[in-house]
Amino acid sequence: MLPPGSTIGILGGGQLGRMLAVAAAQLGYKVHIYAPDAESVAAEVTAHHSQAAWDDEPRLAAFAAACDVVTYEFENVPVDTVRFLSGHVAVRPGAAGLKIAQDRLEEKKFVAGLGGRPAPFAAVPDRAALDSALEQIGAPAILKTVRMGYDGKGQARIMTTADADAAWNAIDRHAAVLEGFVTFAHEFSVILVRGIDGEIRFWDSSVNIHTDGILATSSLPPPPIVADQQDEARTLMARIAEELDYVGVLTGEFFATENGPVFNEMAPRVHNSGHWTIEGAVTSQFESHIRAVAGLPLGSTATRALPVMMRNLIGADIADIPALLADENCHVHHYSKTEVREGRKLGHATWVGASPL
Ligand code: AMP
Repeated sequence: MLPPGSTIGILGGGQLGRMLAVAAAQLGYKVHIYAPDAESVAAEVTAHHSQAAWDDEPRLAAFAAACDVVTYEFENVPVDTVRFLSGHVAVRPGAAGLKIAQDRLEEKKFVAGLGGRPAPFAAVPDRAALDSALEQIGAPAILKTVRMGYDGKGQARIMTTADADAAWNAIDRHAAVLEGFVTFAHEFSVILVRGIDGEIRFWDSSVNIHTDGILATSSLPPPPIVADQQDEARTLMARIAEELDYVGVLTGEFFATENGPVFNEMAPRVHNSGHWTIEGAVTSQFESHIRAVAGLPLGSTATRALPVMMRNLIGADIADIPALLADENCHVHHYSKTEVREGRKLGHATWVGASPL
């Protein structure tokens, strides 16, 4: 058990790091943010901050020396950075899950190997491979870059084979994977936390609505089809966590289909679809992640009251905050980002035991 007063290092300085830091502070820990970006909304609330490149080994070594354990809030931290740090300080979760989650093709193969069911997929390393992938998978389909895709970025839909060139150009001709289009009733997530001793706990699954590939809302209780498929999806996520000897919060995103849960993708970190747990669960995903990486006992993940709804405040939505503050049932989170940009996540609002609709 990491004693209070110890320092937890977090790689990445966005809102997830900010909310992790607040949870760490509640448990008596200091936080040191390491991120290359000039703006760090996480470092605004932490004791220590290193603004340095992911490959700056002297700065990484100094950061490791200043921390008792290191974790990450950003899934595109280079695997080499985590490997380098691991030679100096415990990094939880380790590099294994990060490496798989950074590569859509590896991720699908890994999950399929553990008995999970991703959408039909084929590797598209180059333009010629796209034609054979389309023959194999058929249209409609979605072309996704293997690396660096998030919030619907690095994706192009292919409705007929005539769209192939446009889709290939739209993803800037990067190595990709072609996925069959899944007809789903709903999207949902499974979020778990695994402790150092291997204990696993799950939060209730929310149903997630995306707009333009970006999460708009997460709500509970989910519709019956999601509730029915939650257990199968949980079994898969537990298997993934065990295979990786994972410590911390791990998220899986699924499509609820007529034929059961289809795995979409995983994130080796706390997740936007779990923000509702701050007020809606006995122990939030953020506190649970800190407890896990610090070797503390895990808390209850039970939902406090239904219904629950989390709404992201994206771009101009941030102007809704005064109205949301006037709603007695609403919990408002402002990430303190200075630049308001279309599609940028700037805050979120949560209702517990009450619905805004
Ligand atoms: P992703 O970045 O892979 O999570 O994709 C963003 C969103 O695009 C998902 O949340 C879905 O709404 C949609 N999507 C992604 N892949 C598929 C698929 N194979 N079939 C249907 N919709 C998809």
